[in-house]
Amino acid sequence: MIIFGTGRMRIKKYDDYTIVCENCGESAQLFSVYQQYFHVFFIPFFPSGVKSISCACIKCNDMFNQKRHSHYLSITRTPLYMYTGAVLFSLLIISPFIIGNIVRYLA
Ligand SMILES: [Zn+2]
Repeated sequence: MIIFGTGRMRIKKYDDYTIVCENCGESAQLFSVYQQYFHVFFIPFFPSGVKSISCACIKCNDMFNQKRHSHYLSITRTPLYMYTGAVLFSLLIISPFIIGNIVRYLA
């Protein structure tokens, strides 16, 4: 049974209609930004590794375009849900102290 490991998730996609495909002439490119993450029970714990990007023509699926990779990589931020496991684990650790304080306050 696999309880932890790494995965890869698409965190953002951009449609760019300013670049003309060299293969089919269509001016529609799809950029997809991926982030590798560490998971525990398939809950993202924290991002690991670097972001990666791929792009393809929407019409012919040709993956020639490398021009705007760095631009879209630089404007994409790692989403907060990548830290879901770390936040839940932190809440699990501090919850006895919070509950203890509440019980002491009410008593
Ligand atoms: Zn194309």
